Amino acid sequence: MRPLIAGNWKMHGTLLEAGALAEGVRAGAAGARAELLVCPPFPYLVPVGGALGADIALGGQDCHAREKGAHTGDVAAAMLQDVGATYVILGHSERRADHGETDAMVRSKAEAALAAGLVPIVCVGESEAQRLAGDAETVVTQQLDGSLPDGFAAAGGVVAYEPVWAIGTGRTPTEAEIAAIHAAIRANLEGRFGTPGGGLRILYGGSVKPGNAKAILALPHVDGALVGGASLAAADFLAIAAGV
Ligand code: PGA
Repeated sequence: MRPLIAGNWKMHGTLLEAGALAEGVRAGAAGARAELLVCPPFPYLVPVGGALGADIALGGQDCHAREKGAHTGDVAAAMLQDVGATYVILGHSERRADHGETDAMVRSKAEAALAAGLVPIVCVGESEAQRLAGDAETVVTQQLDGSLPDGFAAAGGVVAYEPVWAIGTGRTPTEAEIAAIHAAIRANLEGRFGTPGGGLRILYGGSVKPGNAKAILALPHVDGALVGGASLAAADFLAIAAGV
C-alpha cells in the first residue's frame, strides 16, 4: 500500500509561517512515493490548503461528534470537508489528556468523520507507566476496540500508534517494540474487520525525525508516520517522506 506521511502542526505558527511552510512542502513534494498530508491549525486550513495544491492532502486535528449545533469553539467534520480536508486526526493523546477524550468520544467523532466523508486517523498509544508495567499491547488493543467505529475499514480508516512518552521527547521505542505493537494492531484490525483490516494503514508517531524515519518506516506493518515537531520544517518533513 502507498505509505502516508502526515504532518501534525499542532498549535504552532502564524498565518505567514503556515503559508511559507505549506509552500515549502509543495515545492519539494513532486515525485514523492508517499502520500503527503498536512494538518494545520483550524484558522489556517483554507490558506494552507490553497498553498499545498491538489497533490498534497489536507486534514483537521480534531472534529466534533455532532453534525452541527450549539457547540461554541468546536468544528464539525462537514466544515473540514467543506474547506478541502480529506482526513481528520482523532483521539490524539494531547486531546485525550487536555480535553478528557475517552475511547467512546473518539469513536463518536470518528463516526461523524465517516458521515462527512473524511478519513479518520485514530490515535492510540500507551503511557510510560503502562509500557513499564508490560501493558502496552493490552492498552492499545482496548483503545482500538473502543475507538474505532464499525464503518472504519470500509472507509479506509488509518490507525496511528503513538506512545505517549515518545511524543515530543526525542525518545522512541526500539524497532522490535514498534514492530510488536504494529503486528498486534494489524491482528486486531483483521480480527475485527476481516480481510479489509489487512489493507488499512498503520502509522507510527512519536519523535519521528529524518535520522530515524527510514528504519522505522521499513518495519513490517508500519505504513507511514504521523510527524509532529519535525513537520514544522519543510526540509525535515520531506526528508522523512523520502525515507519510504
Ligand atoms: P512528535 O509528535 O513528532 O513531535 O513527537 C508526534 C505527534 O504528536 O503526532
